[in-house]
Amino acid sequence: MAWYGKTAHELIEAVSQRQASAVEIAESYLGRIEAVEPRVDAFTQVWRDSALEQAARVDARIARGENAGPLAGVPVALKELLCTVEGETTCASRILAGFRSPYDATAVQRLKAAGAVLLGKLNMDEFAMGSSTENSAIKLTRNPWNPECVPGGSSGGSAAAVAADECAFSLGSDTGGSIRQPAALCGCVGMKPTYGRVSRFGLVAFASSLDQIGPLTKDVRDCALALNVLCGHDPMDSTSADVPVPDFTRGLDGDMRGVRVGLPREFFTDALSGEVREHVEATVKALEARGAELREVSLPHSEYAVATYYIVCTAEASANLARFDGVRYGFRHPEAKTMLDMYVMSKTGGFGPEVQRRILLGTYVLSSGYYDAYYLKAQQVRTLIKRDFDRAFEQVDVIAGPTSPTPAFRFGEKTADPLTMYLSDIYTISCNLAALPGLSLPCGLTASGLPVGLQLLGRPFDEEMLLRVAHCCEQLRGGIGKPPLA
Ligand code: GLN
Repeated sequence: MAWYGKTAHELIEAVSQRQASAVEIAESYLGRIEAVEPRVDAFTQVWRDSALEQAARVDARIARGENAGPLAGVPVALKELLCTVEGETTCASRILAGFRSPYDATAVQRLKAAGAVLLGKLNMDEFAMGSSTENSAIKLTRNPWNPECVPGGSSGGSAAAVAADECAFSLGSDTGGSIRQPAALCGCVGMKPTYGRVSRFGLVAFASSLDQIGPLTKDVRDCALALNVLCGHDPMDSTSADVPVPDFTRGLDGDMRGVRVGLPREFFTDALSGEVREHVEATVKALEARGAELREVSLPHSEYAVATYYIVCTAEASANLARFDGVRYGFRHPEAKTMLDMYVMSKTGGFGPEVQRRILLGTYVLSSGYYDAYYLKAQQVRTLIKRDFDRAFEQVDVIAGPTSPTPAFRFGEKTADPLTMYLSDIYTISCNLAALPGLSLPCGLTASGLPVGLQLLGRPFDEEMLLRVAHCCEQLRGGIGKPPLA
């Protein structure tokens, strides 16, 4: 039986009804991976033996009449930058080649405790820096909807694997759009929870004030199920929020009457592709027909978001990546004669060009004489961006717009000019700067058969509202079907 095409909630149902064992499901997914990986290349490591062992343990617990957990037997895969005792944690970088983590990230521990079966790890842009997964030091990942197009990034492997039915859901990380943008380009649901909702313990840091872990799923219900397991306070992460975690599946079927949906004027400009605009607008109109109230809102500082983000994230990256010096982890240049040589040669040989560019930019904006002009100024603009949202959320309950200005683009199309690549994040990064929850869901296909994503942004810790509106959109517009992978 081809269990690989099912959603997590269908698998949970099948396991609980004893229609399928966890081992049968894991085997179905492992077979699927073998069949389509040559065309997708989403996985960096497949943990075949350990997946079957985990599944057998789930089945044994069920046979003993024990509660095997809310995700019992659900096959999941992880972005390469989440620490796992199993396999390697390389962040798709040469500098961490061969690195084995001594511990599991909290998000990974939570999945294991919930009975999920971990299938392996997924490709990404090196250290999560990029929007196309082309910055991976390991390989390129292809978009399952069109092998000539990128899957988006930086969680490109996480999105491609879900779209290609190689796992029931995956984990990604989102610093400036890295869950939502690839979800949009590959036609999955992707959620960046509110900053602090999911522990960052064991997530290799890129920009600590922006990073969040979140799920990429086949539908909105699965997103809610994954959040139920992932969210919660963790004393191991000092920025983890100690707030109650609701059952996120409970509000999915809520009414749209009285829900005020804000459409930011600044998101619907000429930068937006016509086909993306059409699908987003059609979905929002359908919400209105269901009783939601549409209102135009303004986020006047949006035009500074890209510039602000690329100062804040590079500054934090330059501090975070200082630890990769050839002394403690991974790659050490074999020919270095002195200590200074070892630092310089290990970093130059270990980091790819985009990571080097970010470290240099970040070091520059933090250096004495430039700190006030760049870093401090960016922090001030960040506050203004946050205030724009505070004002908008006085008038509306949720903000809707496109996730990405265009559908999936072709390999090489944006690699020559980093600025064009950075503009892919134009609609996603303010959410991270303002520490809000954001979700992308598929809302249609272009004439050439590429998915279009609708983005919903909410008040801090109001993921429930996003899920409720997203669930309604999904029901109104129907699914977008499966990519032509056969
Ligand atoms: N594309 C953005 C960047 O390159 C976002 C990355 C992310 O969210 N990790 O920084």
